[in-house]
Amino acid sequence: MSKLIIVSNRLPVKLQEKDGMLTYKTSEGGLATGLGSIYKQGDNLWIGWPGMVVEEEEVQGRIAEDLKKENMHPVFLTETEIKEFYEGFSNETLWPTFHYFSQYAIYEQQLWETYVAVNQKYCDEVAKLAGPDDTIWVHDYQLLLLPSMLRERLPNSTIGFFQHIPFPSYEIFRLLPWRREILEGMLGADLIGFHTYDDMRHFLSSVNRIIGYGSTHGWINTGSRSLLIDSFPMGIDYEKYAEVAATEEVIKREKVYRGNLVAKKIILSIDRLDYSKGIPQRLHAFEQFLAKYPEFHEKVTLVMLVVPSRDAVGKYKELKEEVDELVGRINGRYSHINWNPVQYFYRSYPLETLSAFYRMADVALVTPMRDGMNLVCKEYVASKLDQKGVLILSEMAGASKELSDALLINPNDINQLVDALHEALVMPEEEQEQHMHSMQETLKRFNIHHWVSMFMNRLSYVKIKQLSLA
Ligand code: UDP
Repeated sequence: MSKLIIVSNRLPVKLQEKDGMLTYKTSEGGLATGLGSIYKQGDNLWIGWPGMVVEEEEVQGRIAEDLKKENMHPVFLTETEIKEFYEGFSNETLWPTFHYFSQYAIYEQQLWETYVAVNQKYCDEVAKLAGPDDTIWVHDYQLLLLPSMLRERLPNSTIGFFQHIPFPSYEIFRLLPWRREILEGMLGADLIGFHTYDDMRHFLSSVNRIIGYGSTHGWINTGSRSLLIDSFPMGIDYEKYAEVAATEEVIKREKVYRGNLVAKKIILSIDRLDYSKGIPQRLHAFEQFLAKYPEFHEKVTLVMLVVPSRDAVGKYKELKEEVDELVGRINGRYSHINWNPVQYFYRSYPLETLSAFYRMADVALVTPMRDGMNLVCKEYVASKLDQKGVLILSEMAGASKELSDALLINPNDINQLVDALHEALVMPEEEQEQHMHSMQETLKRFNIHHWVSMFMNRLSYVKIKQLSLA
């Protein structure tokens, strides 16, 4: 019997050491939820880094034993590998390039070499455990070379690859010194998935111009094999968000939070600290809104949650300072003794707290400069049980392709953002309900389980089709 192996940079658990004891904290992320029902079945497996550097072989062995019981297998990374493969090439070369921030990208041969070596390390671990006919589903930009490495070792396996971040236009992608090797790495898969049709188009165009392979309806023929490129917009666990938002605890929390704020209207902003999220631009727009509409002073508060992220990377430290300064400037200028226009929290929160924030928000302001999908906006919609609330969403987020009932904005157009804020704050409830209802119907149907089964079904279809094309 063949099995399914999922491979991602991180496992869906985080290993922690407390008082000499090892603990395993399970991830509640969307991917872990969606794939949870699959990798736990039978002999299926999830392979990835457990989130902690472990040097002693004996401890590594113990961890592998523990994880085996949960259908997981660890790939151990050294400090240097984390620095050069993860923080370096993945987050300082690929991440900025793929999010159209090429000016932030660094091109260093040493980082590239470690990236190749670590992809090889993942390949070795998979090859130890995979049978010749297994299905392997590789995830995301940290492992772009893995599909071809696996194809060489396991020529008959079924390999799927999904990229969770955008794929940039050819003019951006071509700037990478290792553009050809990266594409060749990806092309080892049988099926390559992106969130949107545009990402897929950009990928096909880069393959065409850099390697010279054309495509027909998403099919590429490399001369020796055919593979399919397609789009699969990732959904959320809709039921989970709707159910949590209905619990007593969350309703109670929402009341407490609301009671503590003077302003009647709440605008919510939630993201990881990242330059792709457009946090300073959003603050500039809010500042301009306050200047243009003084009648909203004391009536509106921007609740801004920023989750610390990648603080070892220089650009993120600079961004943190910029955000701190902007919040300080706006509050310094407009605060009254009992009202702060911006309530700023620099930390991460558990699901129940987020849910209370989602329930409480009259407006969700989700304005990334570029985002593969963006799940926060979908979670907001799923949490709005009374269907009251307005989503302002950037056109540059993958989610905007499905959520056309949001107020869609260009995050560079501050005037448009200011107008959208005003429109959202004065929108009649009936209109809010109409838009929210339509977005909820979409998200209920195209949820995370639907996404997983669409991808897996398409992968089986590709294998059958390949036989007839051979
Ligand atoms: N999130 C969280 N705690 C927080 C803030 C956010 O668990 O305090 C979660 C949020 O619920 C969402 C995810 O982080 O599922 C962010 O995903 P998204 O796709 O919006 O952005 P990413 O950080 O992956 O770029």
